[in-house]
This record gives sequence, structure tokens and C-alpha cells, in this order.
Amino acid sequence: MPSAAVIVDVPTMQTNFPYSYAIPPELQSQLQPGLRVVVPFGAGNRQVEGFVVGLQDDDAKHPTDELKPITRLMDLTPVVNQELLELSDWLAQRTYSFRISCLLTMLPNVMKAKYQTTVAPVPPVQDQWLAKVFADQQELPLDQTHFTNREVARLTELRKQGQVEVHYHVKNQAKRKTEVAVVNQITDFSRCATEIRKNATGQQALLHQLEQQPKTPLRQRELTKVPGISAAVIKTFADRGWVRKVTVEQYRNPYDQPRHPDQPQPLTPDQQRAVTPINKAIRDQQSTVFLLEGVTGSGKTEVYLQTIQQALNQDEQALMLVPEIALTPQMVTRVKNRFGDQVAILHSGLSNGEKYDEWRRINAGAAQVVVGARSAVFAPLPKLGLIILDEEHDPSYKQSDNPRYHTRDVAIWRAQYHHCPVVLGSATPSLESRARAEKGRYQLLQLPHRINQQQLPAIQIVDMTAPSEHYGDLFSQELVTALQSTLARKEQVVLLLNRRGFSSFMLCRDCGYVLKCPHCDISLTMHLDSHTMKCHYCGFETAIPNECPQCHSRHIRYFGTGTEKAEQQLQRLIPQARILRMDVDTTRKKGAHQRILSQFGDQQADILLGTQMIAKGLDFPNVTLVGVLNADTGLDLPDFRASERTFDLLTQVAGRAGRAEKAGQVIIQTFNPQHYAIQLAQQQDYEAFFRKEMQLRHLAGYSPYYFTAQITVSALVEKDAAQESYRILQLLQQNLAKTTEVLGPTPKPIARIKNRYYYQIIIKYKHDEQLAPTLTRIQAISQKEVRKGLRIAIDSDPVNFM
Ligand code: ADP
Ligand code: ZN
Ligand code: ZN
Repeated sequence: MPSAAVIVDVPTMQTNFPYSYAIPPELQSQLQPGLRVVVPFGAGNRQVEGFVVGLQDDDAKHPTDELKPITRLMDLTPVVNQELLELSDWLAQRTYSFRISCLLTMLPNVMKAKYQTTVAPVPPVQDQWLAKVFADQQELPLDQTHFTNREVARLTELRKQGQVEVHYHVKNQAKRKTEVAVVNQITDFSRCATEIRKNATGQQALLHQLEQQPKTPLRQRELTKVPGISAAVIKTFADRGWVRKVTVEQYRNPYDQPRHPDQPQPLTPDQQRAVTPINKAIRDQQSTVFLLEGVTGSGKTEVYLQTIQQALNQDEQALMLVPEIALTPQMVTRVKNRFGDQVAILHSGLSNGEKYDEWRRINAGAAQVVVGARSAVFAPLPKLGLIILDEEHDPSYKQSDNPRYHTRDVAIWRAQYHHCPVVLGSATPSLESRARAEKGRYQLLQLPHRINQQQLPAIQIVDMTAPSEHYGDLFSQELVTALQSTLARKEQVVLLLNRRGFSSFMLCRDCGYVLKCPHCDISLTMHLDSHTMKCHYCGFETAIPNECPQCHSRHIRYFGTGTEKAEQQLQRLIPQARILRMDVDTTRKKGAHQRILSQFGDQQADILLGTQMIAKGLDFPNVTLVGVLNADTGLDLPDFRASERTFDLLTQVAGRAGRAEKAGQVIIQTFNPQHYAIQLAQQQDYEAFFRKEMQLRHLAGYSPYYFTAQITVSALVEKDAAQESYRILQLLQQNLAKTTEVLGPTPKPIARIKNRYYYQIIIKYKHDEQLAPTLTRIQAISQKEVRKGLRIAIDSDPVNFM
């Protein structure tokens, strides 16, 4: 008799492998991998949840009669398919996390613990037993008090026949928005048709609607939009017993806008040179990774759309990932316009219920194209033919909590599994990806020109270190003059206030000097508590200087300004300007982001002033001026990728100007006019930046020449965090190869968050066979320490050092 291998929801090192459970006879035919179950666990036989990850034949070591039996099933159909089961195994090893965390990460929130699973019969109810069990109840909880195992097995059968559905509800959620819907009760439509008078057009229309979709609840709000159907007509049907009124969760789709179907554009020769090899790889089922390096406005999206079409033509599916999708509604609209209802969207703006609806459509094979942010990389598409990562350099592709995966890695794993290509697209590829293309591990495709040979906008750099010539420290004369003439021409402006990071850097107002670590070439962070400047990579520290070490000026200051203050200043400078502000405060409400952008698109405002969120993907033809108020704040971060991020941001935002016929102009205000990231952004020369930055990374020993890993230790008492990090340091020093470099421990740049103290150790290595086993050991140790209030996090490829 086979037994089941179960990963239990007890995230510890000791339980990080499958346990064997006996399968009760009544569940034998239903049990399969990917189902969730409840099992007795531990000496006290506590009931815990788990995932069935495999079925095993009996072996001598585990005779079935010695095994504890599975208590019950939690699902009627598998929630994780075979591919994702395998992926979870790989992911757990790769990210030093528990397999249960990886499995849970793949599921929509509603399917996790604090939600209740219910079963509902699909009308019209035919099965006698079903009718009896549910009587007049719409749904019942799928648990032990309502169903025995034998009954659950029966429900599983009925689910397969489409006679029952599974729902997930938030337990005790107070204010779920609901609305009225009607459920069809009619079995014989032609008989009902004869009972309706010829001139009762409303009734006929409703009957027609019900016949079209006899199995789905139809929302009254939607139905009454159909000519003739009124609330009175619906009531007539309800009175006759033809429909039953129910309440359903309100469904609001922020992208539910009128669709403007569009057609594939004839490709430019550059685009054609990119599309041809990608389509060939799709046809030949090659898991090639393409790096599509295309300047802003070069038509990367059309390349995505036409390669997606190729996958669809072959009856395969496509997954398109974008950074924080709520930030690029324009992109979503473009995909929807091309592919319509075949598209499912997964993004953070959806409610959990809406996300689950989309997930279920995908899992059922009803969506052929999925567009989504990071976690959508786990979308259970069974027939993947193409995976796209747009803006592949974007840091939001890295998950900062357990499991700390990079979307790009998961995408490539899945592509190999499905034998399909991956397209990494960007105007400013990450150094890692560009270096892999250089080595031939990725295939490089370039789009060096804008569509229609549009010029890239001219970029002007304004030196802000001479404040007397400017209006305060945010607006230069040059920018204000350009703003005025742009507004006079009735054209629009995008203004970026760079707010990356936080304001604790020493910056000389006179010469632009930023105090840096002598060993690491990373700016030092000011610590007011200890009155020191610290390096967060190597621990170097020095007193806070009273004057600039370079020019001896005493004009040293913090840097950082809010968007609100910027808006006020701007309004004072140009009173007639209509300004729209976009930042975390103005976009907190659902749909606000979209609303601001469409207001701007409809030219209800002259200036869009915002943070990083305005830099990406926006395509407004009337924008001819882009201004960056402060290019430097990102540059001064204690992160070896600071220059890269600054270059990326400036290039992206500059690309928002002059995208249509009118020529664009860009003004970048900076305290570091000589910095290579700013100079090369001015020239919009990614390739030159890549070479320069590669040299510097080589000299400093950072990625992509070295791999990095990061261990973070945190505790409520600072001493505990420090002590534990030194214990870990010892372990690392004893085990790692001589060529591996260990930096730290040091307090993290943000040393205390919510009263926890953070310490970090950075490991730099090229090749070290001892690294994985050593980190796994630390993962195991971290278990015991958790009890003492310590937390240890391992990140095998960190992108955030704050
Ligand atoms: P990117 O994503 O590379 O910044 P987009 O995909 O936004 O560039 O393309 C820029 C503009 O060019 C868009 O308005 C798009 O509709 C248009 N475009 C793209 N490809 C073509 C083409 N082959 N013919 C005509 N217009 C195109
Ligand atoms: Zn100075
Ligand atoms: Zn240092």
C-alpha cells in the first residue's frame, strides 16, 4: 500500500523534509501530490496542515501500519502542480529557506491559514446526496464537523464533474463588500421560453442571459445594464423560482476599462532582428535566455507582443513580468488591447478575492497570457511557451523576505522546465545580465534606435553647488526657465524628485564632496547616536567632520526633501501651473495611481511631480520636458550598486521626454556634475557605462566578478545581535575557502527598525564548495536561536544593503 510524503507546516530545520503518512482507505483513490492535508504531528499528535509532495510505495523502513494516517483532505483538487512541487524543492535549497515557506509563497493569500475553505453546489443541483446535504444552504465549510473523509472523497468526484465549487473566505472579515447576484435554477429553457409573453422583451433578455451562462452567478448590477432587464424583471424570475438571489463579493477591476483592440504593427528592421530568433526559439522549444537591450522608446513592447503571439499560435502560453505592476498601467492596457480576455492580471492593487479569481482562471487553463509583478512568476500556467521580464534590472524583482528569491532565477528555472525561451528586456540591463550576454550565456539582442528614428532627448546637466544662482536648493534658473517656456507652448512636464534611501549622508554644499570609506569606496553613513560616520561594509568609522575634508567649507548638510515641499515651492515659482503630485501619499487609495495618470494623459495638468514611480514605462506624447530635481540622493547610498541605480533611473526618466513628434528636453540637477554615472546618463550611453562600471566592480571585487551573500542577524538587545554575528563570523572563517572574503559584522545602515537591532555580514566569493554546507548549518543553528529572540536571515544574492 502506498503512503504519502507530506511537507508539514512547521517551519523548522528538523521538519524540513517530507514525512510519511498512511493513506486512509477512503482517501486512497483521491489522494495525489499537490493536495493539502491535515495530519497528526509530533508526540502530542497536534493537527497540522501540510502539502502532499509525493506518493511512495511501501518500503521496509516504513511499513504502512506503523505510520500515522492522514486526518483529512483540505482541497478537492491539487493546489500545486508537479512543476511547482519540483520548483519548491529547488527554491528551498537555493534560498536557504524551508520548503513549506516556498510552497506557501506560490499560493494566493486566500488559500493560506486564516482563510476558510467552503464547498458550494453548482446549480442546478442534480446529485441527490448533494441536494440533501446542502438543503437550502449555499455553501458549507470543508472541514471535519461538516464532512467525513468518505464524504470529502465524494465531493472530490463531484468537483471533477463540475457539480461543486470550492471557495475561500477570510475568517471573521468584518467588511467584505458584497452585491446581489442571481443564480439560475432553470433546467429546461425552452419550456420557460413558452411561458414568457412575446412582448415581455425584458424577460426574454434575462432568459437569454441565463441560458448563456447557466452556471455562474450573474450580478444584478451587470444584468440591469442589458436593455430591458430591470430589477422588476429579476424579481419576477425569482418569484417563479427561476433564479435564486444570493450575495457575492464585489468584484472591482481597476483595469476594467473600455478596450481598444489593436493590431500588430509592421516591425522595424531592428525589431524584426529581435523577433526572429525569439520566435525561432519558441518554435524549436529552446530554453535560450535573450537579453533585449533597447533604448527607451525603441519598441520593446511590440517585440514582447509579437513573440507572445507566436506562443499563442502554437497553443502555448506566455508569462510577462513587470516591476510592481500597479506602476505601469499603460503596459497592462497595451497587452489587454492586443490579447483581450485571454489575459489575466496579477497585481498588488487587486483584493485577495480578485487575485484568487485570476489565479483560479490561470489554474483552470482559462488564461493564456499572464501579466504580473514578482510573485506572478509562480503563476500555474501548464503550457508555458515564453517568459518575459520587462525592466529586468529592477530591484523589485528580488523578494526581500523568505524565501529571498530573484524573479529572474525562477523564470529561467521554469523556462528550462518548459523548454521555452526567456526574454529579459531593459534599456539599462543589470550588470550581471549584460556580463552574461558578453560571455555568451545569454543571447544579446539590441534595439539601438528609437522608433521612427526619433532623437533621444538632449540632456542638460545643471550644477547645483552654486546655490546663489538658483531659486533655493530645488529649482535652478535653467529649470524654471524651461518650465515656463514649455508651459507657454501648452506642452507637459514630468519632474522627478529622487527619494531613494534616507538622508544621513554627509554632503558638502560647496564642492559636492561626499565622505567615503577609504577601504570600500562606499559613502559613509552618519550615526547621530555615536557621532560617527560608519562604513556598513567593513565597519570603518570616523568622527563626523565639522568641515569638508576636500574644500574646508563648513556648508555640510543632510540631503533629502519631501515631494510636498517641492510642490509648494514650485507653485510659488510658477503660480499658473497645474501640478499633479504622485508619491506614496497620493497613491495610497486603490486606483489612485491610474487616476492621476489618466488626468495627466487628458492634459488636465501641466506638471506631473513625483518620486521614482513616475520614471517607468509612461508614454505621454505631449511631454517634452523632463526635470530631475536631485540626481544625487541615490548616488550617495552605501551600496555598491548606487551608481548603477542612479544611471538606470536617470536614463529611464529621460526616456519619458519627446516620445512622439515633438522633440524632448531633459534637465538634470546635480551636486556631482562630474560623476561618471551622471555624465554617461547625459550621453545616454549604456554601453560606455557598462564598461566603466565593470572596471570599478572588478577593482573593488563586487558582482558580477564576485558573488555576494549576506547574513543578517537581528535582536531586541543590540549586544545579542552583535555576539551572535561574531559567532557566525567564526564559523564562516573556520569553514570557508581562503579565497572567500568575509566583511563585517557591522550594524546595518538602518541599524534599528521597530526596536530590533540589525547586524550584517557580507560574504564575497568566486567559487567556494564549502559555502552552501556552511550556510545550511547556519540555517540550522538559526532555529535554536529563534527561541532567544534572535533572527538570522541568509540572502544568497542580496540586492539591498539597507
Ligand atoms: P520601449 O518599451 O522600448 O520604451 P515602446 O514599446 O513604448 O518602447 O515603443 C515606443 C512607441 O513606439 C510606442 O508608442 C509604440 O506604440 C511605438 N511603436 C513600437 N513599435 C512600432 C512599430 N513597429 N511601428 C510603429 N510604431 C511602433
Ligand atoms: Zn567641500
Ligand atoms: Zn568600508
